[in-house]
Amino acid sequence: MDSLDAFAGGKLAALEAKSLKRTLVPTGRTDGVHVERGGKTLISFSCNDYLGLSHHPRVKAAAADALARWGTGSGASRLVTGDNPLIEDLETRLARLKGAEAACVFGSGYLANTGIIPTLTGEGDLILVDELAHACLWAGSQLSPADVVMFRHNDVDHLAELLAETRAAYRHVLVVTDGVFSMDGDLAPLDRMVPLCAAHDAWLMTDDAHGVGVVGGGRGSSYAFEATAKPPLQMGTLSKAIGGYGGYLCANKPVIDFIKTRARTVVYSTGLPPANAAAAIAALDLIESDSVLVGEPVRKARLFTAALGLPPAESPIVPVLFGPAEAALTAMRALEAMGFMVVAIRPPTVPAGTARLRFTFSALHSDADVLRLADAVRALLAKAAA
Ligand SMILES: *Cc1c(COP(=O)(O)O)cnc(C)c1O
Repeated sequence: MDSLDAFAGGKLAALEAKSLKRTLVPTGRTDGVHVERGGKTLISFSCNDYLGLSHHPRVKAAAADALARWGTGSGASRLVTGDNPLIEDLETRLARLKGAEAACVFGSGYLANTGIIPTLTGEGDLILVDELAHACLWAGSQLSPADVVMFRHNDVDHLAELLAETRAAYRHVLVVTDGVFSMDGDLAPLDRMVPLCAAHDAWLMTDDAHGVGVVGGGRGSSYAFEATAKPPLQMGTLSKAIGGYGGYLCANKPVIDFIKTRARTVVYSTGLPPANAAAAIAALDLIESDSVLVGEPVRKARLFTAALGLPPAESPIVPVLFGPAEAALTAMRALEAMGFMVVAIRPPTVPAGTARLRFTFSALHSDADVLRLADAVRALLAKAAA
C-alpha cells in the first residue's frame, strides 16, 4: 500500500474506533417527507425542506420551464456569461423579503460564507464568532487574515465584554452568528445583538439558513422579535425551506456591489443554474403568500416538544441529546426500525459528549406522525436512562 492509502486508511480506522466514521447512504426523497432507503420507505424527520417546496408542483414547473428554455448550466461565472436574468429577478425578490436594498446570489450557502467573510475583513480586523456557529462561518473566517475570536453561545454579555475590550484595537470588527442555530434550533438574541453591534460600529452578519421561510413570518430571524432586529448583513441559503439550491447575502447596495466585484466565490465559481433561480422565485411566491404554511413547521415542532415535556421549540429544529456518539446511533437505528428517519449528529459537527438526534419538522408531517414519534422517543430516552 502506498503512503496515501495508508494515511487515509489509518485515519478511517481511528474514526471507526470512536464511532465517528461517517457513511453515505443512497436516499431518494419521493416527496417532502418520505425517503426511500435500502428498499424501505421511511418518514423523514431529518430534511431541511421545511415547507416541502422541493416537490411543490409550482416550484417544479418553474424549474422545468427554465430548464427547457435555458438549459442545465449557466455556462460561466456570473461576471462572464453566467448571469442569467432570472438570477437578478431572484436577487430583487430576496432583498424585498429581507427588507434590504440589494442581494447577491451565490452557488450555495457554503460558498456565500466562504466568499463574504474574507472579502469584508482583512489584516488589522477582528471577527467575533458564536462558538456554535455553522462550520462554513468558521471556514470563511479562517480564509481571512483577520484575528478570529469566539464568544460563548448566545451570550450577549460576553460579546459586549469582548467588544468593549478589543474594539479600539481593530480597524473593523465583524460579528457572525447563525440566526437560527442549525444543530440546536435556538435563535440568536438579535434584539440585543443588533443595537450592541451598532453601538460599537461592529458589523453584524446573520446566517439565516434555517430562519428564512419558517420564522419571522417567513422573513427570517430578523423579523422573529417584537421589533424588527435587522443586521446589516443577512446571509442565507436557498437549499432549506426554499427547497432548492444556492445561497445569498442581503445588504445595502454598496456592500452588495463590492461583494459582486470581489468575492472569490462569485468571481471564480460558475453562476447558479437558471432552473435553480426559477425554482427559488416560485418558492418565494409561496412563502410570501401563504402565512399558514410558513407557520406550520414551528407548530409541529412545538407539538413534539410539548409531548416530550421539553421547552417550546423556537424553530423547526429540535435536538434530543444522548451524549455518547454510540447512544445516539443506537437510538437512530431503533427509530429507523419503526419507520422514522432521524439522523444522529455526532462530533465534530456538535461538541464532544453532545451527540444527539436532530429532529426537523415539516409543514407536511401529520400531527399524528409527530405524536407517534414523540411516544417512540420518550420510550428510547427511558431505556437509555435505565
Ligand atoms: C446548511 C447551512 C449552510 C450551508 O448552506 P448550503 O446552501 O447547504 O451550502 C450554511 N449555514 C448554515 C447555518 C446551514 O445550516
